Amino acid sequence: MAPVDLHTHSTASDGTQSPRELVQAAARIGLSALALTDHDTVNGLAEAEATSRSVGLELIRGCELATRVSETGPEMHLLGLWLPAPPRHLLAVLADLRTWRHERNHIILEKLAALGKPVSYDEVLAIAGDAPVARPHIAAAMLYKGYVASRPRAFADYLSDGGPAYAPKKTLSPEQALAVLKADQATTILAHPYLLGLSLSALEDLLKKLIPLGLDGLEAYHSEQPPDITGQYVSLAERLGLAISGGSDFHGAVKPTVKLGEVKGGRHIPNQVLQDLKAWRARQ
Ligand code: AMP
Ligand code: ZN
Ligand code: FE
Ligand code: FE
Repeated sequence: MAPVDLHTHSTASDGTQSPRELVQAAARIGLSALALTDHDTVNGLAEAEATSRSVGLELIRGCELATRVSETGPEMHLLGLWLPAPPRHLLAVLADLRTWRHERNHIILEKLAALGKPVSYDEVLAIAGDAPVARPHIAAAMLYKGYVASRPRAFADYLSDGGPAYAPKKTLSPEQALAVLKADQATTILAHPYLLGLSLSALEDLLKKLIPLGLDGLEAYHSEQPPDITGQYVSLAERLGLAISGGSDFHGAVKPTVKLGEVKGGRHIPNQVLQDLKAWRARQ
């Protein structure tokens, strides 16, 4: 069975390919299933589903929500997979998430202006369109204005976490995000655990706190972790009774080194990951 990719972004959030282009590309490279997991929106899902029917690919309706490990700690991302249409509980919180992004984005633009790189909100909106505005849109505006040579450079020099123009955004708490996703009967996955920078035992402690709040699984395959981490995460998930998931976190030109359907070392995410996730979900 053909491999899968259960974590991707489109222009509905901060990716650079439309949902249609993304699904077409997934079919072209031979994936059997794709989850579209845009940040803070489900607006790309209808187009992705329509395209998936025409190209014969399985589309899993998803979304990625940001939370924090602690109030001032780094972001911790959660994926909701198999969202219903419409996801009533999720839709009820999305307006707040947009407001919090808006407040944060203004601070970033103020910092950029102070650094001699003024970008107006309208210039960012011209790139973001209807998407929840995210740092990649600001990076694209900086590239357009000739301030940086590439989007990755905009992050490296200004926008990355802790960078000179960075400002944190307010997020849901893990409790809130998991409650919303579970209320919509989604399968909940801790995204890219490696990026939390925790030891395996600290991650285990965190997972033990998240499971009673509604966490179903762990993203054991991801493009931004060493390949040997996958096995450790699979064992950890088995020990804790968690499901496993896997995705590239493809964003297109924002992260040019990340390829659709691939994790580190050009490896694929086996179809079995999806079959096991479905079996896990059926038992719930
Ligand atoms: P935001 O939600 O506005 O904080 O933006 C977060 C998004 O920016 C992530 O989902 C990535 O798409 C992107 N991002 C964060 N850090 C980097 C980086 N160092 N290089 C490229 N993209 C990044
Ligand atoms: Zn993103
Ligand atoms: Fe993420
Ligand atoms: Fe993501």
